[in-house]
Amino acid sequence: MSRKLIVGNWKMNGSLSGNEALVRDLSGGIGEPVCDVAVCAPSIYLAQLHGLLEGSRIELGAQDVSMHEGGAYTGEISAGMLKDYGVRYAIVGHSERRQHQGESDVHVALKAKRALAAGITPIVCVGETLREREAGMTEFIVKRQLSAVIHLNGHCISEIVVAYEPVWAIGTGQTATPEQAQNVHAVLRTQIRAATEHADRVRILYGGSMNASNAAELLSQRDIDGGLIGGASLKAADFLKIIAAAKA
Ligand code: PEP
Repeated sequence: MSRKLIVGNWKMNGSLSGNEALVRDLSGGIGEPVCDVAVCAPSIYLAQLHGLLEGSRIELGAQDVSMHEGGAYTGEISAGMLKDYGVRYAIVGHSERRQHQGESDVHVALKAKRALAAGITPIVCVGETLREREAGMTEFIVKRQLSAVIHLNGHCISEIVVAYEPVWAIGTGQTATPEQAQNVHAVLRTQIRAATEHADRVRILYGGSMNASNAAELLSQRDIDGGLIGGASLKAADFLKIIAAAKA
């Protein structure tokens, strides 16, 4: 895997004026980035971001996508609609959605399939809770979560991005050590290799309190191909430092 991918997950943050300022600061500081870069904005702002990011080096992502193609699903947004607004990536299965919206492994797999069918790259999030880690279940959990996506998507699996996000590290300031992260990434890589001969095309991102100080060490691990960044992606200076740390 040569070029890394750094993705900002803005979660439920932003405003028309705040987004404009953040994109202005990012675009002004990004230069010729050493890696691929995207920001995943709240759906309501995708149209605004589509305009703001035009001609920039930053691609647009969504934080979710419907598992349905279209029709009577009030409040849902389809992959085709996202595509209309230039969306290149869609996060699926973020632990906050698994926890608060009750998304199951099957829902996540269906969402990944819808995204792929529309030409959007799903960023499939997997990760264990603290209780699961302490019970020695980390490998079992992440493999189970990913295998649902592999099962439904077959050889298309080579077109996805995977994000390993230990739930205990998200928004807590507690980061997995580079070794802990690398160990899980290696497990995921092996699982992907067993599913496709193009496994090296699949980027496996680390997410969970990655910041300007710890990014370089995490990103230097053999199987860490980039980062999914929450809190630190809301501050242009921090996000730009993480991008700069993502040399191939
Ligand atoms: C995330 O929400 O995907 C995330 C990694 O958040 P944070 O960087 O704030 O831990």
